[in-house]
Amino acid sequence: MPVESGIAEAASVLRAGGLVAFPTETVYGLGANALDARAAARIFEAKQRPSFDPLITHLADAADLAGLVGPVPEAVAALAERFWPGPLTLIVDRPAAIPPIVTSGLETMAVRVPDEASARALIAAAGVPVAAPSANRFGQLSPTRAEHVVAGLGGAVDVVLDGGPTRCGIESTIVDARGGRPVVLRLGALPVETLVEAVGPVTVRPGSSGQPVAPGTLAAHYAPRTPLRVAGGAEPAAGDGTRRGFLAFRERPAGGDWAAVEVLSPGGDLTVAAARLFDALHRLDAAGVTEIVAERVPDVGVGRAVNDRLGRAAATWRSDA
Ligand code: AMP
Ligand code: MG
Repeated sequence: MPVESGIAEAASVLRAGGLVAFPTETVYGLGANALDARAAARIFEAKQRPSFDPLITHLADAADLAGLVGPVPEAVAALAERFWPGPLTLIVDRPAAIPPIVTSGLETMAVRVPDEASARALIAAAGVPVAAPSANRFGQLSPTRAEHVVAGLGGAVDVVLDGGPTRCGIESTIVDARGGRPVVLRLGALPVETLVEAVGPVTVRPGSSGQPVAPGTLAAHYAPRTPLRVAGGAEPAAGDGTRRGFLAFRERPAGGDWAAVEVLSPGGDLTVAAARLFDALHRLDAAGVTEIVAERVPDVGVGRAVNDRLGRAAATWRSDA
């Protein structure tokens, strides 16, 4: 239902323990009452998400953090003050009110305030913090349109609020600043450069192997159903009649016999490219091709998060992943 007219009903569904998919500025979230362990369990079921992958809790207002969590370390508070509402998720100690299932048993909790008025209105109307991972099945492409949510999760969701395509198109940046110097656990819509400008040096530690503290950082994730490979320089034509798709940054590849081509940003704008990334991958995935070849984008700003997602999507399809 349209997000404008659906907020009151969606809020009562959340309060009753139901699941609501809703737009944020990053991607569509699959929300449940974060104070309700059974509601949170439904998120894991609907997404077929492994129980070790913790959820991000969403608040309506930065001022609500103190009420839920109490005082937070100075560096965390400074980031919240500077970047909320916005695509920055912060790690704090898990408060007793949040059941352990939400954090997959971790004693820490990921939390943010989305920069999307309708999402904040929904959370405020529900009157509870809302746990919301991306509204897709685990490991698959993230949803940037309501249509992606319906195609991926369909009947598993009680209400899907449709607010059109999301503005950023890529997930939040996750930062642990409890120790002072911020540690970036997942690259995302808030560029590292912007963090550094605001608070000085940060440590970037995405994709660290081993036990995933942030499973959005699992090596294999964000994948289309079609095998995806990152382009390695000039791409020769397949020459054997196979249908292949190409994901380009700013221009169509010269030559090659591509059955489908998506250009992320003819103007070469990384913000536009990030906003269109998952939508373009959803379209290539539906184009009936046997392989998607994706071109990396310049590795600066939000381009780093785009390349991170392409690398993880490709890892899903590599036997050595
Ligand atoms: P999603 O919203 O589906 O993109 O996934 C949420 C992301 O937040 C995952 O990568 C989680 O691992 C990460 N996350 C949630 N809670 C924590 C936490 N306490 N510490 C580190 N990362 C977290
Ligand atoms: Mg996700």
